[in-house]
Amino acid sequence: MKYRKFAASLIASAAMLVAAATPAQEPVREIVNITGDLYRGIDNAHRTVFLVTDGGIILTDPINLEFAQWLKAELDQRFDVPVRYVLYSHYHDDHASGGNVFAETATFVGHENMIPNLAAEAGNPVFQHVRPPDITYSDRMSVTLGGRTVEMIHSPPSHSNDSSIIRFPDERLIFAVDWVNVRRVPFQNLGGGPVGPWIEANRHLQATVDYDVVAPGHGPIGSKADVDHSTQYLVDLLAAVRAGIDAGQSLEEMQETILMEDYSDYAQRDAWMQMNIQGAYQGEMANQ
Ligand SMILES: [Zn+2]
Ligand SMILES: [Zn+2]
Repeated sequence: MKYRKFAASLIASAAMLVAAATPAQEPVREIVNITGDLYRGIDNAHRTVFLVTDGGIILTDPINLEFAQWLKAELDQRFDVPVRYVLYSHYHDDHASGGNVFAETATFVGHENMIPNLAAEAGNPVFQHVRPPDITYSDRMSVTLGGRTVEMIHSPPSHSNDSSIIRFPDERLIFAVDWVNVRRVPFQNLGGGPVGPWIEANRHLQATVDYDVVAPGHGPIGSKADVDHSTQYLVDLLAAVRAGIDAGQSLEEMQETILMEDYSDYAQRDAWMQMNIQGAYQGEMANQ
């Protein structure tokens, strides 16, 4: 069984590589049980989480229209309850699209900054399938359904200014997207930096939120200790870039000499670490 799971994940990885090379390839979609009534939905490189209760399903990100349509059909088939809540991690189209698929039965919840962020994208076809939240909150809120409670906690601005930590207290698990990573370098250039707010957001999470397990929006599930590890990645990245700037190095020199060897097992390192250095560098130069 273990081998089969491993073989399946190898096949999934290979399929994802092929999918990246040829966009017409069939998407890799899956539902995986995490624990009890809590599940993870996978769409290629994107992940969502949902909780099945007697009163219906509490879903986090719908991800995109095609995935949401696929997911709804799967949920209808597997569980005899509708999606009652969609809880958004943040406004970005590649995580928040497709909500209308659940609009007949669900209430949509997001941080209050989602509203102006989406308004700023009005008319942008990339955001056409993002349904704005019906209910917003500023610091914290919780939803209760079928006797189960899920919390939304605002994270200080980093990757975006409308990020929610979605906490499942019974499972001691959080869902957090793009600014939290498990054994994986952050995406590309961290939005051009600066890195400091990312460090602050991760430290705020670690200091204020009670959890054991993190299910990020990309990559594997991990532990609270994994988030400490990736926070240290950000700290070391920023320190290395600051030292390079102080030594008068160019960005290209830093990209050649900053090796981050403590993080040699991190996924996407070859693809994105030089871009991480670029983002950290841009952020520092903009701050000067
Ligand atoms: Zn994002
Ligand atoms: Zn993402």
